Amino acid sequence: MKKKTMVISLAVVFSLLAVFAFFSEYELRFVPNKPDLRPEGNSPAPQELDKQFDLRGGSERDNRGFPQREIEDLATKYPDLFYRSGPLDEKRVALTFDDGPDSMYTPQILDILKKHKVKATFFLIGNRAELFPDVVKRIKKEGHIIGNHSMNHPNIVKLDKEETIKEIEECEKVLEELVEYKPALFRSPYGSLDSEKVEEIKELDVKIIAWNVDSLDWKSLTAEQVKTNILENVNEGSIILQHSSGSEEENLTGTVEALEDVIKTLKKEKYEFVTVDELLDLEYKK
Ligand SMILES: [Zn+2]
Repeated sequence: MKKKTMVISLAVVFSLLAVFAFFSEYELRFVPNKPDLRPEGNSPAPQELDKQFDLRGGSERDNRGFPQREIEDLATKYPDLFYRSGPLDEKRVALTFDDGPDSMYTPQILDILKKHKVKATFFLIGNRAELFPDVVKRIKKEGHIIGNHSMNHPNIVKLDKEETIKEIEECEKVLEELVEYKPALFRSPYGSLDSEKVEEIKELDVKIIAWNVDSLDWKSLTAEQVKTNILENVNEGSIILQHSSGSEEENLTGTVEALEDVIKTLKKEKYEFVTVDELLDLEYKK
């Protein structure tokens, strides 16, 4: 009798926990309870308090959630313009980092990449590049590839054609001044795109780079969760999405802490890390 009561009590407790987890999306909203990994002190750089640092279209969290099949449709419809992964016959993957530069996470990610001699692709925001020009130059100097992630990070499907072109061209101009080339790779903010936008962007002579492995790190996940999302979904030719800068709502501590293990594990599995242009055999500059 006693045993039966205990089993029932346990079942009730677990059911309640499951209901709680389901409704609160507890796991998804979990922010690691750790201090910032900021190297010097804990206060944000003054530039990060500037309005210019904000993502124009709002947080990643509020804008994501578009259906995955939409990406697949575009890749099928525009095979020479829209890419979400590389060839399946070689054990090569590309790490990509969006939304930088900043003064906190981007330098730490660069340190880890340098330590493991891995080259990656950074899709930078023009406005933030203006705020942290030295970080942009460091990315280039250390052999990584820089792509265009728009000037202000708006949700471009909500813009008209003229505004869309302006967002990409302004960012191109800022980046060109800092790295001395016009990036030929573009990633749309929030991954938000439709056929109409692809047609507009086509005229700008850039290739659109999506991804097929999303670390979901913009949900402020723990290192363990980031690692699982990457390592359980990666395969030959994967383009892996991570972020090198956040917003007030995005804690990327998990990304930084997961990176070393992700690199070590994939190297052990004989994966080679390449930049997006190498993976897809494209030019990275115009
Ligand atoms: Zn972004």
